[in-house]
Amino acid sequence: MTWYFGHIDFSTYPHYNKKKLGVEYHNNYTDFRLWSSVASQVKFRLYETGIDKEPIETIDLKKNGSIWETSLRGDYHGTYYTVQCLFKDTWLDEVPDPYAFAVGVNGKRGMICDLSRTNPANWDSDKHVFPEHYSDMVIYELHVRDFSIDRFSGIQNKGKFLGFTEESTRSPEGLKTGIDHLVDMGITHVQLLPIFDFHTVDEAHPEKNEYNWGYDPQNYNAPEGSYSTNPDDGATRIAELKQLIQTLHSKGIGVIMDVVYNHTGRTRHSCLNQTVPGYFYRQRSNGTFSNASGCGNEIASERSMVRKYIIDSLKHWVNEYHMDGFRFDLMGILDIDTMNAIREEMNAIDPKIVLYGEGWAAAPSPLNEKHRAVKSNVPKLNNIAVFNDDFRDAMKGHWGIEGSIGFASGQTLNEESVKYGIVGATDHPQINYGYINSIKWAWSMSPQQSINYVACHDNYTLYDQLKQSHPDAGLRHISRMVCLAGSVVLTSQGIPFIHAGMEMMRTKQGDGNSYKSGDDINMIDWSRKAMFSYVNEYFRKLIKLRKNHPAFRMTSTKQIQQHLRFSKHYLPGVVAYILCNNANGDNWKTIRVIFNNNASPVAFPVKNQKWTEVANGLAIDENGLRTQETHTVFVQPVSMMILVSEGDVE
Ligand code: CA
Repeated sequence: MTWYFGHIDFSTYPHYNKKKLGVEYHNNYTDFRLWSSVASQVKFRLYETGIDKEPIETIDLKKNGSIWETSLRGDYHGTYYTVQCLFKDTWLDEVPDPYAFAVGVNGKRGMICDLSRTNPANWDSDKHVFPEHYSDMVIYELHVRDFSIDRFSGIQNKGKFLGFTEESTRSPEGLKTGIDHLVDMGITHVQLLPIFDFHTVDEAHPEKNEYNWGYDPQNYNAPEGSYSTNPDDGATRIAELKQLIQTLHSKGIGVIMDVVYNHTGRTRHSCLNQTVPGYFYRQRSNGTFSNASGCGNEIASERSMVRKYIIDSLKHWVNEYHMDGFRFDLMGILDIDTMNAIREEMNAIDPKIVLYGEGWAAAPSPLNEKHRAVKSNVPKLNNIAVFNDDFRDAMKGHWGIEGSIGFASGQTLNEESVKYGIVGATDHPQINYGYINSIKWAWSMSPQQSINYVACHDNYTLYDQLKQSHPDAGLRHISRMVCLAGSVVLTSQGIPFIHAGMEMMRTKQGDGNSYKSGDDINMIDWSRKAMFSYVNEYFRKLIKLRKNHPAFRMTSTKQIQQHLRFSKHYLPGVVAYILCNNANGDNWKTIRVIFNNNASPVAFPVKNQKWTEVANGLAIDENGLRTQETHTVFVQPVSMMILVSEGDVE
């Protein structure tokens, strides 16, 4: 059969918004509905398990307008099912329906599930963890398996959702691991790499130790089975993910889900395409699947039933799992109207639900960029933040250029891009935007729209990038650079984001694309926490400093313009600024922040008055390291200095 769709006007497909699509479970009956105006017959098969060969029953669904439906009498909890559509005289694959919220092993079948049975004890009293402002968050990006799979993690449920529920775990050196480490660090939100059911890892054979980041969505509304203790039972993964969320919430840590609505792992054979062929994906003018994701397809978010599908899916994760926010992978593929519709729908649940994403696509799309949620369209996005990649590259060098360096690794003459990060990509009178790397203006309408970071799961870890650009540097030198990068990010205006393990010099042994590289490369190696305890301690204090001092967390562009002044004294490799007049209600009147990336100390002139040092080298003490009356300070090599004063601005 043909798989070309160039001649189809998908906007003519009827919209449906009456009843719940997919499984609607009740104790004594279950309704099922599938939207597919193009199928000419639909078979609905019931099975005992997620893999057995023969169905226990096959039902012909009844057509009712644009949907196909049936109603089963009795309690069907635990029964597995598939749908199969007849499309242009061809029977398509047997698949779970796109709305399946419980699935069997490897996600091949849906499961009818009474979700109330998956709730852990006291789930009703579980509460969201929302920030007052986005800039109050400290986000920590983590992969479920990486977190605990190290055999020295001290965690029993290695690689599983349940690994997050184990308290008091320790490394052989006696240091805190797992959730205790997260609490100790003081981070406010965990951003989990994909936890929806993805395609690659074989859930039926855990002994194969397969690994994947999970950016190959299969069932958007069900959790991944390989992270559960029993992937054969569709309810277990749901129950265990809820336990993970409940435990993090009980420690005051919010959970942000990485959602990948921009493409699916498979294209022709995805459950989306096997129920309404072509509809869920964009096409080129010749009718073939377009590929802005670089993964073989791209989701057509602008089509009404796709937009509804994404919104319904997000609502499911918020309402059923108490998710606190979402990180949109390749958000630049999704259209602006859909993103703003998502914001509105989330506002109806709670306006504090956190939304941000990658403001770019991986390749060209047939949908004009002016309609898509890319970085240059941030002003059109309502309360949605994006990753500040200009800041990232300015700090550590360009990810695609071998040996490239940034401010943390000693680059000079690119200080303007660092300043751009310090103000969270907002408009500031002292920045020359012409010098910024990729975009020549302030795309951020407020510091609440800029995710400030230097590293994430993609590309090299910060340590590996620095090591690659400074092959002869010793560990001590690299650790200074890691700490400098951390100090800039965690004192900047906007939303700080930490790649898990950065605080212990995480390495992937120089692997720059480890999406399937396995545990040895990807895991958090907990022995590094003892090895680099001084780095870990520095990050812990940076986070505490940020949380205790609202001057680093201003809430509006205007506030930053009024209270943040860059130093006019130029020295190569030095960026300095003042936060003045008790910025954002801070109890410190004047805060002077100086970053020096030079390999030698620099003398920096300050107004002649009494200054208290609160950060110097790798030391941070909010009560003051020492106080002196001076007009010159000496900033140690590759480090941040912070001075505070009761005096006025110089
Ligand atoms: Ca899976």
